Amino acid sequence: MSSVLELKNLSFVYGQKTPFEKRAVDNVSLSIEKGEFVGIIGHTGSGKSTLVQMLNGLIQPTEGQVLLDGEDIWQNPKEIRKVRFKVGMVFQYPEYQLFEETVYKDIAFGPTNMGKSEQEIDMAVRKAAEFTDLKPELLQKSPFDLSGGEKRRAAIAGVIAMDPEVLVLDEPTAGLDPMGRDVLLSQIVQYHKKRKNTVLLVSHSMEDIARVADRIIVMNESHLVMFDKTREVFSHGRELEKIGLRVPQITKIMLELKEKGYDVPDGILTVDEAFSALSSLLKKEGKIW
Ligand code: ADP
Repeated sequence: MSSVLELKNLSFVYGQKTPFEKRAVDNVSLSIEKGEFVGIIGHTGSGKSTLVQMLNGLIQPTEGQVLLDGEDIWQNPKEIRKVRFKVGMVFQYPEYQLFEETVYKDIAFGPTNMGKSEQEIDMAVRKAAEFTDLKPELLQKSPFDLSGGEKRRAAIAGVIAMDPEVLVLDEPTAGLDPMGRDVLLSQIVQYHKKRKNTVLLVSHSMEDIARVADRIIVMNESHLVMFDKTREVFSHGRELEKIGLRVPQITKIMLELKEKGYDVPDGILTVDEAFSALSSLLKKEGKIW
């Protein structure tokens, strides 16, 4: 595997040399492989948003480098716009950025700016609408006539339509009802499976992260404190609690059983895994056959 993004000693300071100086990201180094699904977790204010905004050149690191496909994205600052096509960013509440007369035009905005032909744009819009399950008849409506969930999906389709190498989503399901959250998360998983592009997902939902991420970046007070396989990260339940994070509920129940002396494995992530671990434990103890 080769890395798509490499962060080298990356730092960002807000209001440098002012009384409000704040080191929001401090000396982060890591590398993300092509096609990985990476979760980013951390308490509010730990530096997650600042970190992801440096990945597509929205803000320039105070120190360190972001390498995309091996090249420093700030090597030629005039070319930074191109990086934004390669690293697509979906911000929190992206629907506030919808502004065109029709949903179609909104989704077409990115590919149009990339200089694609009309035919290519049309194809990109329709494919992105399909990924986000927006019915073709919605495309000619005003974005303001859509439901909350549809608006969110239209905004995400606008980023997917640029076919970015890396898709970064900052709390994409925030504010949606449980069903809307599940649907959107499944669409993101489908997108990742089919396009095989790299996806980075910032989320407060440990259940969501456990379901989708290959690896997890854990931020705390501007520092990278863990970057490891999902199961490995969630097997450190007590350490995560110390920095204000929790593990998925099922993982916590299993952790408590382990702490009571039951012989169950670490880092259980799903109900099915818990069921099979408990079944084999009960069999071993002769409680069931
Ligand atoms: P998170 O996304 O994990 O909530 P942020 O990256 O938004 O964290 O914030 C990290 C730190 O930087 C926090 O202490 C926050 O108050 C500070 N911060 C964020 N944005 C700004 C800004 N525009 N100006 C000054 N400080 C900021």
